[in-house]
Amino acid sequence: MTRDWASLEIDRKARAHAPVQPVAKQAADERLTHFEEIYSVYDAEIARIEAARCIQCPDPAPCQLACPLGNDIPTALRLIEEGQFLEAANVFRQTSPIPEICSRVCPQERLCEGSCTHGGGVCNTPIQIGKLEKFVIELQYAVEGIPLGQVAPDTGRRVAVIGAGPAGMAAAEALRREGHAVTVYDANPHPGGLLIYGIPAFKLSKDRVVRKIEQLSALGITFVPNTRVGRDISLQALCEQFDAVFAGVGANVDAPAKWEGVELDGVYQAGEFLIRANVPDALKPEALVEDGKPPVGRRVFVFGGGDTAMDCVRSSLRLQREQEYPLDVTCAYRRTEGEMPGCRVERANAREEGAKFAWLTAPVRFVGDDAGRLTGIELIQMTLGEPDASGRRRPVPLEGSEHIVEADTAILALGYWPDPLLGKTTEGLETHDWGLISADPLTGRTSLPNVWAAGDGVTGPDLVSTAVRGALRAARDIHRTLSEL
Ligand code: SF4
Repeated sequence: MTRDWASLEIDRKARAHAPVQPVAKQAADERLTHFEEIYSVYDAEIARIEAARCIQCPDPAPCQLACPLGNDIPTALRLIEEGQFLEAANVFRQTSPIPEICSRVCPQERLCEGSCTHGGGVCNTPIQIGKLEKFVIELQYAVEGIPLGQVAPDTGRRVAVIGAGPAGMAAAEALRREGHAVTVYDANPHPGGLLIYGIPAFKLSKDRVVRKIEQLSALGITFVPNTRVGRDISLQALCEQFDAVFAGVGANVDAPAKWEGVELDGVYQAGEFLIRANVPDALKPEALVEDGKPPVGRRVFVFGGGDTAMDCVRSSLRLQREQEYPLDVTCAYRRTEGEMPGCRVERANAREEGAKFAWLTAPVRFVGDDAGRLTGIELIQMTLGEPDASGRRRPVPLEGSEHIVEADTAILALGYWPDPLLGKTTEGLETHDWGLISADPLTGRTSLPNVWAAGDGVTGPDLVSTAVRGALRAARDIHRTLSEL
């Protein structure tokens, strides 16, 4: 569908003044009592009013340019305004294989909504693109059930996908739709990758991910769980059994923490903490089922400034509420709020829920008692020096500012590293920087002739939508290559 710009007759001035139609959000006190999603979904009439604020910017619209997947947002919004909700859902589906997920976890404030003309206009509030996308996709599921779409006749070609996270799911679906037989290997007991094992359910309900996996299974994609390629089966073996291999292994290894005392009881790495706090037993890796939810104490510190840190903060607040403790969770970050890389909306949600923040603060060591339990943390104040390679000002310790604070729980959300296993166990697979797979950004081709790769395992931790974009590019190249065999 292309936009008929010339025939549009809309009063852009009136639209620029139309007030935003917010989506209802649960009160902080209520949402602390559970781990489920906190936003409602638009109803049809309010969605139409919100979509009618869009002034249908000329092609290429800034919102579409800012979307990593290039979603045709103006057309979708026009259709929503006209009440053609299912058609709008299909516009999102043309470019995004997981619109129900992107609409929930994309940082729209930095992408489509951050670029929306309305954001800087009289009204000063961008169109609620993510919430409108979520509305039409959920409506489509309610009306049509799981949408299967078209699958081309079988080609006789077989593709292995390593990793069942966003990149693996996107590549698997795209290749299956071209008629190839697709088998997805994943180390966890359930497909979904970080959508199940990383992002908390209060941002993305596990049901939504399970539903997507059901769709992929119904398309004929085979999932092989509990199988870590490089340990349980080699990449070379997959290359011999399949015509092509796509590696979407993600970056899910907690960054190493070398401070004194990190082995104390009460000090967690974010990865394990989030799985234990948020994943239901039925989906958890067996080794973590017995441990149950992570006990948090009365005084919690989370170290880090990204979205994972905020996920840990908000999970800790819910766990404290479960234990009927007074809320006392502090996010300590070594720069200031202005340099924080995480999503502003999630930070605001954390603040509403009771999170405290300590800026320009870093740990020096973790202090324990004779029983090996965390009792305190030595902190140091920082100041900002010259910009580093990332362009952000470098945090510099203020000598003499060390002090010890009481704490019984510390969570280290210092970022994720790639899993180096594939590179270490596969002769000829080129990697760099702690195990990132070297791959062409436009085609996903690696140093091995029938192996492609994309997603966080290639770029390092990034957005779900950028991982999907890379996977779709690689899937196109795989299909082109298989078609020529
Ligand atoms: Fe509509 Fe905003 Fe996109 Fe312009 S930038 S087309 S106003 S959503």
